[in-house]
Amino acid sequence: MSSSDNFAQRVLVWFDQHGRKDLPWQQSVTPYRVWVSEIMLQQTQVATVIPYFERFMARFPTLQDLASAQLDEVLHLWTGLGYYARGRNLHKAALHCLAHHAGDLPADLDALQALPGIGRSTAGAIMSLGFGQRAVILDGNVKRVLGRHQAISGDPAQAQVGQRYWQVADAFTPKKSVAQYTQAMMDLGATLCTRSKPSCLICPVAEDCQALALDAVVSYPQKRKKQALPERAVWLLVYQRMDSVWLVQRAPSGIWGGLWSFPERERELFAAELPDDLQGQLLPPFKHVFSHFQLHIHPLLINQCDDIDAAVHESSGQWVKLGQLPNLGLPQPVAQLLQRLANKRSGS
Ligand code: SF4
Repeated sequence: MSSSDNFAQRVLVWFDQHGRKDLPWQQSVTPYRVWVSEIMLQQTQVATVIPYFERFMARFPTLQDLASAQLDEVLHLWTGLGYYARGRNLHKAALHCLAHHAGDLPADLDALQALPGIGRSTAGAIMSLGFGQRAVILDGNVKRVLGRHQAISGDPAQAQVGQRYWQVADAFTPKKSVAQYTQAMMDLGATLCTRSKPSCLICPVAEDCQALALDAVVSYPQKRKKQALPERAVWLLVYQRMDSVWLVQRAPSGIWGGLWSFPERERELFAAELPDDLQGQLLPPFKHVFSHFQLHIHPLLINQCDDIDAAVHESSGQWVKLGQLPNLGLPQPVAQLLQRLANKRSGS
């Protein structure tokens, strides 16, 4: 390994002049605020997270507030952010902290990793940014900087290669100013050492960057081979009664677990297949892409029937008014469809 001794020093000097210091979670820092921001920032851009974080903190300023909330309300504030398991795990972890850690996050790396939704890197970020203790992080941004600086070969998802990344990350993490260093590394990866066009000319660690010396910066870290995403289809039954539609709560686990959606069928369903007393109209289908598959969504509007209440079989549902988003967690495609139906009804 080269120059690990002054690597942190150079990164800290750069952070002092160029780092981001005005993000909402960098103000009034607490371990709880760091935790929520780190979870929201997984797979999601800073600009998208900011309004979600602010709304979340306005409603749940402390971990105790989060723990005493209903899951529905937590998921409602997560609507549109995606990866809803993050919201479910936050709530579950808050309840655990209330029961076992006197209502606070534990200041201990292992105890943090034992909480739902907190992996090694997130635990490290909470320890360093929230508790000011020396801990190592290795999120996507940091992995990119270190993988390039040290020209680490191999797929980081493989155990041995992953271990090598953690060793390098540990060796480079300083004993002092660890919170600033953690933030600096995240910033360096997000703003200079970007995926496709890194700004090596102004990078504080360019001098001994091995990937730059090899003229191969975009080859590190090694990318996983992309596989075509499998496709699935679903038929959503949109029962409409006047200006309301029928939503049901999904099972607590799995895709969109605990969120509210339309009753669904996995097999192909045509309007003509409906019982005689129901009439349906297929609305334009649309696609939603998850990280591991693509879902083709076929909404079937059912708004003409003799007794729509009897037609609605699912017991745990509720009628919600179009044009007034309910205080419930909704998957993004369902929120979009509700908006389209509201627009259709108001004629806009
Ligand atoms: S020199 Fe370029 S590739 Fe190397 S760490 Fe800096 S920005 Fe990344």
